Amino acid sequence: MTPLSPSGDQGYLKHLNRAAILDALRREGGLSRAELAARTGRTKVTVGSVVQELLGTGWLHEGELQHGTVGRPGRQLYLDRRRHVLLGAEVGVLGVRAVACDLTGQVLAREALHHPTGSPESAARDLAALVQSVLAHPEVQGRTVLGLGVAVPGPVAQGGQTLLHAPNLGWTQLNFLEVLAPHVDGVGSLRVLENEANAAAFGEAYLPVQSPPDTGAGVLAYLSLGTGVGAGLVEGGRRVLRGAHGLAGELGHTVIQPGGLYCHCGNRGCVETLLGGWAIRASLGLNALEPLEAALLPRVREAAVQITLSRAGEALGLLLVNLHHTLNPSVVVIGGAVTRLGGPLMDTALDFFNAHLARRSGNAPPVRVDVRPDSLYLPARGAAAQVLERAINAPELSA
Ligand SMILES: [Zn+2]
Repeated sequence: MTPLSPSGDQGYLKHLNRAAILDALRREGGLSRAELAARTGRTKVTVGSVVQELLGTGWLHEGELQHGTVGRPGRQLYLDRRRHVLLGAEVGVLGVRAVACDLTGQVLAREALHHPTGSPESAARDLAALVQSVLAHPEVQGRTVLGLGVAVPGPVAQGGQTLLHAPNLGWTQLNFLEVLAPHVDGVGSLRVLENEANAAAFGEAYLPVQSPPDTGAGVLAYLSLGTGVGAGLVEGGRRVLRGAHGLAGELGHTVIQPGGLYCHCGNRGCVETLLGGWAIRASLGLNALEPLEAALLPRVREAAVQITLSRAGEALGLLLVNLHHTLNPSVVVIGGAVTRLGGPLMDTALDFFNAHLARRSGNAPPVRVDVRPDSLYLPARGAAAQVLERAINAPELSA
């Protein structure tokens, strides 16, 4: 191995120190320099000099003087929400979404287009138009753009360039970032392509809006219940579990009914054949273009609808049980349009899951299940969070 030159060594150390400090403040805003030194294992001198640089480049800002129990009072430090912006977008089966977020993950602007997604080229044009629209928002204009993350409805190959297969779009082996490149301008140097459930899971673990980031060693699972069914799995607050070929979390195609209905993937009896939005539509003869919720709402008391939703709920309950016994996640977040359908679906699923847990192990800690009916922008926001993670850990920090 070639030894690093003294200047290379210095640069590398500086990069590690900077990343450690930014990461500590992402997890816990309001720390003083002394607390940062204790949290990151760096000396106060090192923390002082890195913080000074980060204040100058608009990554940090100082708050109130903090009077601790020991030593001199120090100023509280936070990620600065005013200078930078993270862009995230999602190509869904029935529309595209885009968001702009600050460094703490607060959404500054968001835009959506609701119509069935066509070819990669037309999706790229739609997405680029939405991104330009969020960039023009008064809260966003004038900020330094760190990059753009794009969430897609299928597994992405290791290395994050190629969407392997999106069965509900009919896209295979597609480098979507390459298709998108000629259409977008001024979106920063970082580009990320990620599976939509992975992106949402990452956002919930790395930059949650409502609670502090999950810093434990556990797994956060995000179940995406839309046209298709998928899951994103994030371990230790930031590591996406991908599996050998990027297929980890493709729970929609686990088989729960051998010899059951045919699935888009070519197999039979997959979870999606009972729980996927496309399967619910097919079962009830619903129009493929109308939003599922609007199409079902007037009919939710019909016997056929109740039976279809109960079956979907049972499938989701089974999925939760199997997920629990496979990975024992500490938190399960459930999002996607199917969570908003009402009727017996969610109740059946959660009753099934909780009854199973109660029977199996009376003294096991409960599993937190968060249902998010307002999840439309979670994958786009999660893709933006991935841009932040890349930016913090990049050898050179954007000013
Ligand atoms: Zn399948």
